[in-house]
Amino acid sequence: MEKEIIEYKLFQSNIKNLYIQIKEGKVIVKAPKYFSKSQIDEIVRKKQKWIEKNLQHNTRKQQREENYTKQEFIQIVEENVKDLIQLTNLKPNRVRIRDIHYAWGTCSSNRNITINQKLICYSKKAIRYVILHELCHLEYMNHSGKFWELLETYMPDYKEAKKELK
Ligand SMILES: [Zn+2]
Repeated sequence: MEKEIIEYKLFQSNIKNLYIQIKEGKVIVKAPKYFSKSQIDEIVRKKQKWIEKNLQHNTRKQQREENYTKQEFIQIVEENVKDLIQLTNLKPNRVRIRDIHYAWGTCSSNRNITINQKLICYSKKAIRYVILHELCHLEYMNHSGKFWELLETYMPDYKEAKKELK
């Protein structure tokens, strides 16, 4: 028996190639006008594995977004800041949570740390990593070997958290 085809929303227009997108947990196919429904079905069927993988990833991400409320997120940041300051003895001037676009966190020369509020969608480990990363910049204002060495002292498996934030 043939494998059942995944449900998708089809848009046909004057484009040259077929595109498959996953948006809000739905599969959207954009195809050239001259493609027949069976042609499109066939391409979608071939891409089924990729679609399923991306759908899973998509729902995981959505679930993650519901992980913490804003209040809980602030609490996670505050607790980790407190804990990491004690652990590292690196003291920032102040720590803020803001929506920033270019980084997960920043550390200014006057020792102010900003943590990106988009981290609300990420694991506690990733949040802790970003805070630790910025605290380590209080010691080294660069990404030198010494900087990573210092960071690794306090989080030996930091590479995992880094991967999550890619
Ligand atoms: Zn950095």
